[in-house]
Amino acid sequence: MTPNQTAAKVLDGKWVRDQILAELKPRIQAITNARRAPGLAVILVGHNPGSEIYVRTKIKTCGELGIYSEKITPPENVTTEELLGIIEGLNERAEIDGILVQTPLPPQVDKYRVLLGIRPDKDVDGFHPLNVGKLLAHMPAPQACTPAGILDMLRRYKIPVAGKHAVVVGRSDIVGKPVAMLLLHHNATVTICHSKTRNLAEECRRADILVAAIGRAALLTRDCIKPGAVVIDVGMNRKPDGKLIGDVDPEAAKELASAYTPVPGGVGPLTIAMLMSNTVQIAEQHLCSG
Ligand code: NDP
Repeated sequence: MTPNQTAAKVLDGKWVRDQILAELKPRIQAITNARRAPGLAVILVGHNPGSEIYVRTKIKTCGELGIYSEKITPPENVTTEELLGIIEGLNERAEIDGILVQTPLPPQVDKYRVLLGIRPDKDVDGFHPLNVGKLLAHMPAPQACTPAGILDMLRRYKIPVAGKHAVVVGRSDIVGKPVAMLLLHHNATVTICHSKTRNLAEECRRADILVAAIGRAALLTRDCIKPGAVVIDVGMNRKPDGKLIGDVDPEAAKELASAYTPVPGGVGPLTIAMLMSNTVQIAEQHLCSG
């Protein structure tokens, strides 16, 4: 670093997560006092090791917060109909506020029918088409956890979004599209890039806020970062040595960005915090609607 360069600020996902979880505790207590603990059901199909770790963390965090949780583990060869039957049962149970189906699902399962099977008011992941439509229409609804967490992080770090040029690389239904829509609702000017984008680096260099949700280790190099940009790296890629690396070259982010999320420890912790937040919000709505 040259003497007149200032160090990029690290956006600490664990700090944000801890704040979110601390703020949820009195709300969980209030729901529990008024009715019963908020309830989350997690369906984990088969034995994907990555999914098993995610689900374990979700269940553990529920326990720490006083959220009732239930893990349902159908076998790898479960059919779509069987899974829909399980979901239907959970839809009917009053003590279950939120239902989450951990992905990836095995290939014989029709994931779209599964998505549609979850009652929209129990859709903690915000993936049901009705809730996606509400996001588009800027109406209140459960929002996809990682994108919602990113906006929450920007707010807590007082990083202005309105009027900024945000470039989102990736257009998945779970990260790229919803984060682009949330940035738009916060009055950013938004560009969405994907694998067919021409001149990706040039597009990225226009970004005041660069969001990388690609799934390609360090694909975005220094020629993709405008000096002073805020870099949000959603990517979680495993290196041959087993370590995690994001979609952005970490050295380039450190050198050029005004603020950036490290991998790990940046966006990752936000996702689970927002899952808890969605569960609590849904439970509050269920409480109000009797
Ligand atoms: P998807 O594979 O669903 O989407 C990847 C997107 O990146 C696609 O839109 C694809 O374009 C685009 N893309 C792929 N290659 C290129 C390229 N060379 N140039 C430009 N765009 C490209 O991934 P997800 O959105 O599910 O996840 C993205 C990353 O975020 C992954 O590493 C995942 O592990 C991580 N993740 C992290 C979370 C967290 O909590 N931190 C939560 C969710 C995801 P196209 O549409 O044209 O194919």
